[in-house]
Amino acid sequence: MKSYRDRAIVLRTYKLGEADRIIVLLAEQKGQIRAVAKGIRKPTSRFGARLAPFNLVDLQLHKGRAMDTITQADLIAGYGTPVAAQYPNFAAAKVMVEAAQKLTDGVAESQAEHFALLHGGLAALAAGRIDPTMAASSYLLRSMSLAGWTPSFGVCAVCGATEGLRSFSPEAGGFVCSACLGQGALAVPPGTRDLVESLMRSDWKSVEMAPPAAKAYALTVATRWTEWHVEQRLRSVEHLRSEQR
Ligand SMILES: [Zn+2]
Repeated sequence: MKSYRDRAIVLRTYKLGEADRIIVLLAEQKGQIRAVAKGIRKPTSRFGARLAPFNLVDLQLHKGRAMDTITQADLIAGYGTPVAAQYPNFAAAKVMVEAAQKLTDGVAESQAEHFALLHGGLAALAAGRIDPTMAASSYLLRSMSLAGWTPSFGVCAVCGATEGLRSFSPEAGGFVCSACLGQGALAVPPGTRDLVESLMRSDWKSVEMAPPAAKAYALTVATRWTEWHVEQRLRSVEHLRSEQR
């Protein structure tokens, strides 16, 4: 089959040559795709602004030897413009697409669950429905869970104790009790464990009622957890963090 269709979310784009761009996408069926959009930087491009980050598009692609070529792109949902209208939402969306790109890179099987999670996150940001820092934290925790890395939050990751889970240790595998503190464990404010559980479940009512100190710390927990497993920095988190201050 020389050409194929898929629904996809634009993660990021790179300039290529004089007039083209490489578009990095998370496709529902095909997973992560890097494809060329020829002539997209010309004012007369038939793609217009449809292949901008965060947009959901219906694509037709032509298989190439090195890279596929986008032959048609129809906009399903233009999340890019509403998300970019508020900087905190934009910063949160950047965290989501950076994590999505790292977690689906080189994974051959279908990424329909990652696609659905990212779609839901971007739609919520575009609608201005949820706190952007909480949205990004929830996205990181849930996408890590899809990738097979669920932190222990119900019991101590080391000894199984159910009380006093006041520290978080990526090395140990999640929250730990005071008897199991090891190197690199972060002392977390009261309510952080409960908040992480609510974020994992996207229980926004409970998230909203969480103590402010726990909310301020949730992004750190989610980021440390992600960075520890993917063994890379999440660079876009800094922009979102500077919005929190
Ligand atoms: Zn313990």
